[in-house]
Amino acid sequence: MRTSRRCVKCQCPRLWHIDPVLLPDTDSRNSVELLPGITRLASGSAVGTDLGKRTEAGRFEVWICTACGYTEWYAHQINEVLAWLTRNPRSGVHYYDADAPTV
Ligand SMILES: [Zn+2]
Repeated sequence: MRTSRRCVKCQCPRLWHIDPVLLPDTDSRNSVELLPGITRLASGSAVGTDLGKRTEAGRFEVWICTACGYTEWYAHQINEVLAWLTRNPRSGVHYYDADAPTV
């Protein structure tokens, strides 16, 4: 949809474009926060107790069809942090390359 400017499900040409995607700040009635592309504990873990500052990176862009509501999400500026997280088995982040030669 980002390149065709048409819904890939119903071919509707009327789309909403939102960039960046925000979410409400649950501690405030009148502020919003950036929805990061990836969030993990400072250690890189997905679960556990970690008192350090959390890791956040990237942002999301979405395209929404006005007719059927189909939504495409695109993540930006996340590859470097995701590559780092793949080294931590507790991160829940895994990388796949279907074109990579198998051993
Ligand atoms: Zn549609």
